[in-house]
Amino acid sequence: MIFKCKNCGGNSIYSPEKKKMYCPYCDSIDSQERKESASEGLETCPECGGTIPIEQFDSASKCPYCDNYIIFDERVEGDYRPKFLIPFQMGKDACKKSLRERFQKNTFAPADFLSEARLDSMQGVYVPFWFYNYDVNAVFEGTGTKVRSWTSGDRRYTETSYYSVGRDMEIAFDKMPADASVKMPDSVMDLMEPYHYQELTDFDPQYLSGFYAEFYNMPAEQVEDRAKTKMTEDAKALLRSSVSGYSSLHADRETAQIMNRNVEYGLLPVWRYIYSYKGEEYPFYVNGETGKIVGTAPLSGTKVLVYSGALWFFLTAIMVAVNGILGLL
Ligand SMILES: [Zn+2]
Ligand SMILES: [Zn+2]
Repeated sequence: MIFKCKNCGGNSIYSPEKKKMYCPYCDSIDSQERKESASEGLETCPECGGTIPIEQFDSASKCPYCDNYIIFDERVEGDYRPKFLIPFQMGKDACKKSLRERFQKNTFAPADFLSEARLDSMQGVYVPFWFYNYDVNAVFEGTGTKVRSWTSGDRRYTETSYYSVGRDMEIAFDKMPADASVKMPDSVMDLMEPYHYQELTDFDPQYLSGFYAEFYNMPAEQVEDRAKTKMTEDAKALLRSSVSGYSSLHADRETAQIMNRNVEYGLLPVWRYIYSYKGEEYPFYVNGETGKIVGTAPLSGTKVLVYSGALWFFLTAIMVAVNGILGLL
């Protein structure tokens, strides 16, 4: 499907700034109407008839011939219909500005890293996620100690008292996320958090207009361990935070048993900027809701050489490299 402007026939897209559907050709708001895809098949652009190069899991893309944003009906419907999404809240211009502010003082970045032409290649992508809801029975059984010391005469006494500590909590975990995309590196998505899940909005395909999207391509069971690990850690932290006043605490048994579980499917917004430099790709990702940047800093070898005589620059280079390794900037 494609969303077209009723006034001028242009391609209406979702504007993160206006939080509305917007026609960039005649500036009208909410003037869109939905045009269904032609019956010729997924790859055929409903607007110009050109063949769109789509990847296996794409659910929204851009036609390279007429530049219209196309949403692939059968990939957002039925079993593939997301329940909710967080719409992009940071537009492309804001994202470019943020990358420039963050990296313009980075002396070692190659000259065209922040060029308009390069930055303009970034794409807004909706990444598929599974959201797990759990009702958990969390139990802690262990031993706490309290230590009391005092001095009498020339002797010092220490008394250690042992207490049996038990906690039994019912905890409801709402929307523990794990990405369902083969393409998105897990480490990146973990660093990209948090998203504000209260911003989740009922799915409507028009939010995808103006962006790229994937439908889920990893089964909910396959990625669930990531959500379970987070849930178990949180459950243990909650149990322990409910115990206080002891000098030490030893766990004999600590469990988080899932009593009820359900899974929901949704999409989260990410800006993706793939910078190629000397045959290497440096992917940068920006949280499309909060603006948090995750990426690996490109280092310009020539520039490092220019400055390598000065110790301060050498240290800066090392720090940039360390940032690069962590992948968090
Ligand atoms: Zn228009
Ligand atoms: Zn087209």
